[in-house]
Amino acid sequence: MERTIQKSEERNVPKGIISKATPITVAYGDGIGPEIMKATLKVIEAAGAHLDIEEIEIGEQIYLKGNTAGIDAAAWESLRRNRVFLKAPITTPQGGGFKSLNVTTRKMLGLYANVRPCTSYHPFVPTKHPVMDVVIVRENEEDLYAGIEHQQTDEVVQCLKLISKPGTKKIIRYAFEYARAYGRKKVTCFTKDNIMKMTDGLFHKTFDRVGEEYPEIEKEHWIVDIGAARLAETPEQFDVIVMPNLYGDILSDVAAQITGSVGLAGSANIGDGFAMFEAIHGSAPRLAGKNLANPSGLLLAAVQMLVHIGQQDVACNVHNAWLRTIEDGVHTKDIYKEGVSTALVGTREFADAVIDRLGAIPRQLPAVDYAEGNKQITVSWTPEPPSIKALVGVDVFLRHDDRNPDRLGALLSTFESCGMQLKMITNRGTKVWPGGFPETFCTDHWRCRFIRSEEQGISYQGVIDLLQKIHHRELTIIKTENLYLMDGQPAFSAGQGQ
Ligand code: NAD
Repeated sequence: MERTIQKSEERNVPKGIISKATPITVAYGDGIGPEIMKATLKVIEAAGAHLDIEEIEIGEQIYLKGNTAGIDAAAWESLRRNRVFLKAPITTPQGGGFKSLNVTTRKMLGLYANVRPCTSYHPFVPTKHPVMDVVIVRENEEDLYAGIEHQQTDEVVQCLKLISKPGTKKIIRYAFEYARAYGRKKVTCFTKDNIMKMTDGLFHKTFDRVGEEYPEIEKEHWIVDIGAARLAETPEQFDVIVMPNLYGDILSDVAAQITGSVGLAGSANIGDGFAMFEAIHGSAPRLAGKNLANPSGLLLAAVQMLVHIGQQDVACNVHNAWLRTIEDGVHTKDIYKEGVSTALVGTREFADAVIDRLGAIPRQLPAVDYAEGNKQITVSWTPEPPSIKALVGVDVFLRHDDRNPDRLGALLSTFESCGMQLKMITNRGTKVWPGGFPETFCTDHWRCRFIRSEEQGISYQGVIDLLQKIHHRELTIIKTENLYLMDGQPAFSAGQGQ
């Protein structure tokens, strides 16, 4: 695969600072990517960023060469060598088979924390929410984004939601450490643990437990639906919000958009020893090549990068000059408003306007100061001792076209293995046997729970024997889930209506 590497010497980085430069990998991306990346690099280099830049090509062109991941081995090598990645948005080609490069990069490099500050710039950028300064800390590696999906029957498709103890502990601790480092007063957690008691329940419980170690920080938890409604209505009541992956993905876009433009927000993806910085928006192909795009999202992501690599003074300089530019009304088309803005500028001219203001601080908007306190956040976790596990049963998932649960229940009740007997049948999680309602709609997908009534362990051979009996009656087994007691507590949920 082809790629271009351009070293800092070729990129007009001032001579004499190369020895102190931090190596980073840069991708110019697709659509508006190259324009906003050029603008961003021009500003941060003018501000004195000490960078040794290695360029890689990723995205559309790589996908179209037949690489379904959109990134080749040489690019991975650069990322693993430099460990800091400034990335412009890329276009994922339409059609099946192409994997999201963003999700792959985050997971392959262990970038567990996605940090998205969403701030409004009233009265300089039109917004319905003049007082808004929210940082969304989104878990970045797991949840439904594990990407484990199966069509199990003709009628039912499954996506696995995976929430891990290490993943949850790391992201929640990161949110509290971020709040501490940036002088934030409150951390809010959003989950849906009234429904998903085990997965989201783990996230909520971990939040409560880890939160105890941060007595100076206010803590609250909201069920995600009402939490999201409040975020959209009264964002000023939030400070830092920590969320599992899917909720964080959706709500961070909402939060960025209601500040005035999705083009204004940057984001950091942080792992242990790796970090990737990008705008939260996509490649906006319709704006590409027209000098219309707002480079602010990527520029503010570059500010996060400068703080991360210890160049806080440069980060402050760029951020304050950017705030002053916004205050002075020098605006790109997406935020331009007659009567508020003073000049409508393109991508390149906006970058030049920021460069003209380097060294200036905003007059009205609060100036930033990254020099205060330690902004280097490190999170560690230690594995818990393993629990004592006892296998007590198995959920057998069947494809079965006869929609009558009583007939299926009567048939399966005749099987017994190792003391396990049929306890219940659910369809899409709702109990339909014994004593189901005729009104409950049934698909061709059945979960049949076999369990030993006395709380006594069984051997896995007992499960195999049971499956053999079911198989011999020509019932189609799709999959099984073992049922355990862990430290004496059931490690599985009950059926709805059980
Ligand atoms: P998008 O974010 O590219 O565009 C959404 C809207 O916001 C458009 O109206 C666009 O014109 C506007 N917009 C976005 N960035 C702007 C900016 N900097 N200045 C002014 N206006 C801006 O989302 P989309 O249209 O859904 O996706 C386009 C492509 O981007 C798709 O191929 C998608 O897969 C990709 N994408 C990439 C990333 C990434 O690389 N991180 C993220 C999201 C989407």
